[in-house]
Amino acid sequence: MTVCSVVGVRPEFVLATPLSRALADRGVSHALVHTGQHHDDALSAVFFEELSLPAPDHHLGVGSAPRGEQVARAVARLRPILAAESPDVVVVYGDTTSTLAGALAAVAADCPLAHVEAGLRSGDWTMSEERTRVVVDHLADARFAPTQTAVANLADEGVTESVHRTGDLRADAVETARGLPAETPDTPDEYVLATVHRAATTDDEATLVGVLDALARVSLPVVLPLHPRTEDRLRAYGCYDWAADRVSLVDPTGYPAFLDLLAGASAVATDSGGVQREAAYLGTPCVTLRETTEWVETVARGQNVLAGTRPAAVTNAVEAAVAATPGDSRPPTGAADEVARTLADWATDEPAARPLPD
Ligand code: UDP
Repeated sequence: MTVCSVVGVRPEFVLATPLSRALADRGVSHALVHTGQHHDDALSAVFFEELSLPAPDHHLGVGSAPRGEQVARAVARLRPILAAESPDVVVVYGDTTSTLAGALAAVAADCPLAHVEAGLRSGDWTMSEERTRVVVDHLADARFAPTQTAVANLADEGVTESVHRTGDLRADAVETARGLPAETPDTPDEYVLATVHRAATTDDEATLVGVLDALARVSLPVVLPLHPRTEDRLRAYGCYDWAADRVSLVDPTGYPAFLDLLAGASAVATDSGGVQREAAYLGTPCVTLRETTEWVETVARGQNVLAGTRPAAVTNAVEAAVAATPGDSRPPTGAADEVARTLADWATDEPAARPLPD
């Protein structure tokens, strides 16, 4: 049996790592395709090296381009690879451009498709990530939902077949990466960690400057591993030096180092999806720089606050998070094993037994 994973950006490398290991433990062959959406070493190669994720079997080299062009290149370049590998199932992760391209290519090649992180919904249809989640869930033959809410979201859309509540592969990733050596940047004893990279936060100068100014007003120093996209925008707006004077801008880190930074922070302010979940796992109070989240449980449990991007709201929410008592909710692990087992059972079943049983 062969499983083919399509990945392209760092959150996908993080999720593919435990699944790759779980498939290897079961003797299942795993072909890894890297679309090349993230091609910067700091966002790509370092994850493969530090997490011991096997080097990609295929690299599509889509590079930087408008989103539609990236999708088109990846779909076209996947066609001969899927024809040659003839996988039993194509696995895509999350909600990125690579997720969408991998799903479309699988459908075009008549390959069964499985979606990891199925059923997550923010309810914000203006996010391209949300539209990708919905489309891919509806195209998929197997849907691996991390939470009960995700299962319910799918049911609300009439999707009840081949839905598997597996837990969150990121919990397995966190567990493994916490034990690995890390090149963690120096930080003050007490600090707030911040990450900012989404188009909604960075593509509008006033929003990005407002958020950074709000973070700079927090009583603790702010450490911000700078995503290349955010750095590009700051330079284009002529605000890089202004920002560097106000918050501690550091290079993006590898995964074990980022988890160290997150675990050591008094609070984190982020517009990332995965970081909200990781903060909850590590007991670090989180402020989300968005109006909505797909990880609604973290808000319901008081681990995460939706502050949006209005400066006063951001400063106040971060101050409150710093004052909050850190939680401790070690996540249940084992999702990767569950996904690997389900995939292996599925492919060894008689074809007539498809689609996946619940
Ligand atoms: N991350 C990292 N180094 C950094 C910043 C983030 O390893 O300097 C990790 C983080 O722990 C999370 C993932 O990258 O697992 C999040 O990626 P990103 O914010 O790009 O994507 P999103 O989660 O919003 O899809």
